[in-house]
Amino acid sequence: MIDHDKSIRVHVVDDDPADFLIIDELLGQSTRFRYEINHISDISEARQELIDPQCDVFLLDFFLGAKTARDLLVEARKLHCPAPIVVLTGVESGALDDEVIQLGAADFLPKSDITPSLLERTIRHAIQHKRAELELEKMVKRDPLTGLGNRLLFEEILESSLARCKRAGTKLAVLFMDLDRFKEINDSLGHPTGDLLLLLIADRLRAVIREADFIARIGGDEFTILIDDLHDAQDALSVARKIIHAVSQPSAIGGHELNVSASIGMALFPENGDAPIKLMQKADIALYEAKRKGLNKVQCFTSNLQTQLEKHLNIEKGLRYALEHNHFELMLQPQWNLSDRRIFGFEALIRWRFGSDLVSPSDFISVAEKTGLIVPIGEWLLLSACRYLKKWQELGVTQYRIAINVSPLQLKSGYFIETMQSALNSTGINPELLEVEITEDSLLDGHEENTKVQQDLMRIRELGVKIAIDDFGTGYSSLRYLRQFPADVVKIDKSFVSGNGGEALSEPEICRAVVTMADSLGMEVLAEGIETIPQLTRLRAMGCRLGQGYLVSEPLAFDEATQWALAGEAVSR
Ligand code: C2E
Ligand code: MG
Ligand code: MG
Repeated sequence: MIDHDKSIRVHVVDDDPADFLIIDELLGQSTRFRYEINHISDISEARQELIDPQCDVFLLDFFLGAKTARDLLVEARKLHCPAPIVVLTGVESGALDDEVIQLGAADFLPKSDITPSLLERTIRHAIQHKRAELELEKMVKRDPLTGLGNRLLFEEILESSLARCKRAGTKLAVLFMDLDRFKEINDSLGHPTGDLLLLLIADRLRAVIREADFIARIGGDEFTILIDDLHDAQDALSVARKIIHAVSQPSAIGGHELNVSASIGMALFPENGDAPIKLMQKADIALYEAKRKGLNKVQCFTSNLQTQLEKHLNIEKGLRYALEHNHFELMLQPQWNLSDRRIFGFEALIRWRFGSDLVSPSDFISVAEKTGLIVPIGEWLLLSACRYLKKWQELGVTQYRIAINVSPLQLKSGYFIETMQSALNSTGINPELLEVEITEDSLLDGHEENTKVQQDLMRIRELGVKIAIDDFGTGYSSLRYLRQFPADVVKIDKSFVSGNGGEALSEPEICRAVVTMADSLGMEVLAEGIETIPQLTRLRAMGCRLGQGYLVSEPLAFDEATQWALAGEAVSR
């Protein structure tokens, strides 16, 4: 309903003063409502008013000098103009009528037909419809659990707030907040408890921020907060600290007292950018940095992070180019028996050829994972490994297996197994010669996905392909998890073997524990990164049978690996 006590604020956008007087007079005759009319004759001024929260309705003349209402309607849609726009014109045309309505106009009135009652009714309906539309939009763009906005609504509100801040010369801050260790709570106490905790956190956030600010939940435990109309960046920082303080209060839920904490990343307008996507991306990067520094931290986007971002973007661009132009190479590192150093297989390790350099995966895998490029790169890798095996088969060499590293993202892509199946089919190689290495952490990605990963691994095994748990000992290293997942081999991470750069084994106790653990589960153990004879001897004494490392060989190019495979003999150096 329209409030009769308040006057209706109308912006009339018309370059003809005579038309303005007519409208003024028509609305002046109303006995039901009072109107406050503002005349705008210039399109650039009209554009500024599109985000005026006080305006109830626009009456827009179709022809505005060299421009038409089309331009302003497009702009209004982009800025999520909160007021309806009624288009007025001197010509009557059905086609024009349809077009402006499609562009988002609330209605279309030929000037010749306007009567006071028609104009009033049109204005009233336009306002009521727009309000209903905004209400509905808000409901659809809400997170059903907490009632907060979702990502889409956040982006829209950020866009219009930015337009307002630009005009008023004020600042705003975008905060990305993520609960620390929420996954653990969800996994150990169950989803209903996790949901209650999210509800409680949402209430605490609402209590800390001002009415004018806006909160959204954009992912499981990820919240975004828009702090509008700032005078000083310090103000945003103190809100962020208040939020952290509020969230870290003990929470009593379902008989448990939970202590959660949060990390916050922050980006500022105008300092860090003026587009919603840019600000959100930068707040996200700052959040990542905050998390890296530990729990309960606030991190602003800095020039240092900017440099990292640019590097990241360059690598991403380079990787796309490398994928298109086939600039990746697969090196093969021998894997051997510790007793006689006889090779039984190879691990495929990717390299990026960049001019005359071979870039190491540690410089680009994390970017490939963050951007999802690891999925097509991984497909390339899988197919290349199968082709290598096929070439060896043609040479009569069929006893060596090749292990490939598979990122958790590839498993999550949902079609990894199909890709593997088709690579095996198209090359016709024996699946038992292929091994998949996945890291321990990829087994632990959330509760529901766990069973999914488990099922995927089962299916991979059903194909006949072997599974190795890579870098064991660097993640959760839980026997419980290891028991849950079907694996053939456990790989002791190289940091426990040669990590301290000495001659002796770096972490003999950990190595021994892994060997015992794997033994009890009937799995093979392979020690990575063996560089010296004392390390080899000590590992053998513990009962570890398999190894890999510079002591025997660095990763080799395919032709060289083929020579080794053809020689097929015990290797010594
Ligand atoms: P990883 O799977 O644990 O691979 C073993 C790494 O240890 C390789 O580094 C290898 O060159 C290195 N290494 C081997 N022997 C020794 C040694 O005796 N001493 C020392 N200090 N290091 C040794 P690389 O090739 O730089 O790969 C690093 C990591 O990048 C790999 O660790 C793996 O996690 C990842 N990666 C490599 N290729 C791929 C790939 O194709 N896909 C995916 N998703 N990840 C890959
Ligand atoms: Mg590996
Ligand atoms: Mg490894």
